[in-house]
Amino acid sequence: MHPQATILVVDDAPENLRVMTSVLKDHYKVKVATSGERALAVAGGAERPDLILLDVVMPGMDGYEVCERLKADPDTAEIPVIFVTSRDDEEDEEHGLAAGAIDYIVKPIRPSIVQARVRNHIELKRSRDLLQRLTTVDHLTGIHNRRRFDEYLDIEWRRAARDRDPVALIAIDIDHFKAYNDHYGHPRGDECLVAVARTLFDVAARPTDLVARCGGEEFACVLPATDIESALELAERMLARVRALDLPHAASPLQGRVSVSMGVAAAVPQAGSSPEGLIELADKALYEAKASGRNRVIGWRGDAR
Ligand code: GH3
Ligand code: MG
Ligand code: MG
Repeated sequence: MHPQATILVVDDAPENLRVMTSVLKDHYKVKVATSGERALAVAGGAERPDLILLDVVMPGMDGYEVCERLKADPDTAEIPVIFVTSRDDEEDEEHGLAAGAIDYIVKPIRPSIVQARVRNHIELKRSRDLLQRLTTVDHLTGIHNRRRFDEYLDIEWRRAARDRDPVALIAIDIDHFKAYNDHYGHPRGDECLVAVARTLFDVAARPTDLVARCGGEEFACVLPATDIESALELAERMLARVRALDLPHAASPLQGRVSVSMGVAAAVPQAGSSPEGLIELADKALYEAKASGRNRVIGWRGDAR
């Protein structure tokens, strides 16, 4: 049995909420919101809904805007949205689909249609979630994802312990990226992520080097059989290549160009240990790089542990 899916129903009319809830409550956990603002707060909260049924016409923030905002936030972008509207002309439908909705339901609603559509979309969402868990590739940039990074670091850590080799790690974070999104918009932000990912991938040339997107605008490299000096050299080359992309970033104080900060750490692992300490060290170095001005590399040699 699947755990019960959660559905968020958004409508400014309490009567509509009541009807929709009664149609869905036997099979799903139903949450309700009476305004666009409330809907965004609930969707971004701790218990993320699996599907949102969204009224188009509401006072204040309308359904289109709610949908656009949901799609612009990486935390909520993957939640499917179905528009529920009494205006059933084609233009509205186009507008809704352009805003990122997955489907359309016309009021007055027919319970059996709502139940069937909701069931289909919940099934699709489950399949997508499952694929996402199984996949090792980041869908936006095409480089490896967090899951593959963890897996690979673990394997290489153990191999290095046997061979008494060092393992190096580079933690990478784009500078002032929130301001980039705010200034250029989310789609341009995505393009920037792709460009930076490609560049990092190109510079890490050894077949054993792994570059991953660990989340948001954060990347990491696993460099097997690499000491701190070589890792620092590689990181400096990455830093220079990102700057050489010459991507304008008008909201950045760093000469108005996209840049990254990097933390580097390397260690020879001891048998039976985990790579946690190395990750922490690289993160701390990254923090230092941010705190001391960004657009730079900071690195430390780890204790052999
Ligand atoms: P700092 O220099 O300290 O790293 O500042 P920052 O603004 O880069 O860091 P912060 O962590 O505050 O902001 C990260 C931003 O990255 C916020 C978030 O909207 C954006 N972001 C995360 N994932 C994605 C994505 O997939 N696409 C786009 N376009 N932006 C994303
Ligand atoms: Mg950042
Ligand atoms: Mg960040």
